[in-house]
Amino acid sequence: MNEENAPLSRFRFQRMLEMLEKKEGRGTELITVYIPPGKQVSDVMSDLRSEWGTAGNIKSKTTRKNVQDALTKVMERLKLFRQIPDNGLVFFAGTIASDQPGVGDMETYVLIPPEPISTYYYRCEHRFMLDPLYELLRSEDTYGILIMDSKEATFATLKGRRADIVREITSGVPGKHRAGGQSARRFERLREMHLNEYFNRVGGHMTEIFLEAQNLKGIIVGGPGPTKEDFVNGDYLHYELKDKVLTVVDAAYTGVEGVKEVVDKSKDFLMNIRFYGERKIVQDFLRHIGHDTGLATYGEREVLQALKSVNVRTLILSEGVRRALVKLRCRECGYEKTKIVDLGELEAFEQELSEMKCPKCGNEVYELMEKEDLIEALVGMAEEADADIEMISTHTEEGEMLIKSFGGIAAILNYRQFH
Ligand SMILES: [Zn+2]
Repeated sequence: MNEENAPLSRFRFQRMLEMLEKKEGRGTELITVYIPPGKQVSDVMSDLRSEWGTAGNIKSKTTRKNVQDALTKVMERLKLFRQIPDNGLVFFAGTIASDQPGVGDMETYVLIPPEPISTYYYRCEHRFMLDPLYELLRSEDTYGILIMDSKEATFATLKGRRADIVREITSGVPGKHRAGGQSARRFERLREMHLNEYFNRVGGHMTEIFLEAQNLKGIIVGGPGPTKEDFVNGDYLHYELKDKVLTVVDAAYTGVEGVKEVVDKSKDFLMNIRFYGERKIVQDFLRHIGHDTGLATYGEREVLQALKSVNVRTLILSEGVRRALVKLRCRECGYEKTKIVDLGELEAFEQELSEMKCPKCGNEVYELMEKEDLIEALVGMAEEADADIEMISTHTEEGEMLIKSFGGIAAILNYRQFH
């Protein structure tokens, strides 16, 4: 993802997928091509040429022509790449069905995924194939989990809600009760030695499993008794991993049950870490509103106004906002106005447009000059005004409040605004 503003690129990527999801072909004629990094352009070209040949067998004349045209378009676009980008490449092309039969436009989309893809395939279907890209969007941070007591240790990874056991080892440390005839001191010394050896082994496994792990956001350690604390506080864990230990959780179990228990207990904790930044931003906004500092505003019109007067320090937008900014113009007298319409009602609005009267000359000759996703319009203005842009998800209580109580559009201002 774009290092500059990852949440924003994520949002844009998601909206792009939603847009592509709506496209449909009249027949089985929309093509999707996924190309992973490392693939040779020339190899892909020859595969596509062979698909073009195979498409010659399609019975329906229109479908055959549409599929072959789409493949040609993809090959034309692919030719512009000397090599496949680091994250791979995805093409969508096809004739999109319209209301009138026989009429449709060829559309082509080239997408560089926000994270590397590993699939290589060609599909020709009624719709574009988007699942692997939605999967990328869902991919979440990874956490390492270590569950241990003096008898055994379990290593697992946690991604989203899914925990996978990576490795399980036993300690070989004898129990706390010595056999008859053994001196207490000797027994204790031996036990210490075994424990030390075991901790070193656990540390070694941790390094092996987690040091090079991708997207590792932190480590959670859990288990019954004080053994886990002795391990974490001792000198057994690679210093980079030690820095990543987020929390140490008490658990009744070890092994698989222990992993489940600790994942369950860490749910809220992880949610707070993940959305810590987002929550802080909304809280800051709420503080301004609550204390009536005059340094925060919300609502479409208010924020647009603040952006126009270059008075926005931070633009705060909810991912849940689904509105479009529409610019209309009267063809007769040139009167212009902007309207904000729900994305879902945009089509109906465009149809009603011909019956709308111009308030200036009274003619019914409005034309649509521009339509833009409201979020994109606001982001564009904020960029021009050099304001910070914060995208807020709806995964937290604060995020929910932002969209429900404030319409999902808010701003922290540079100075008080007079109305
Ligand atoms: Zn007019």
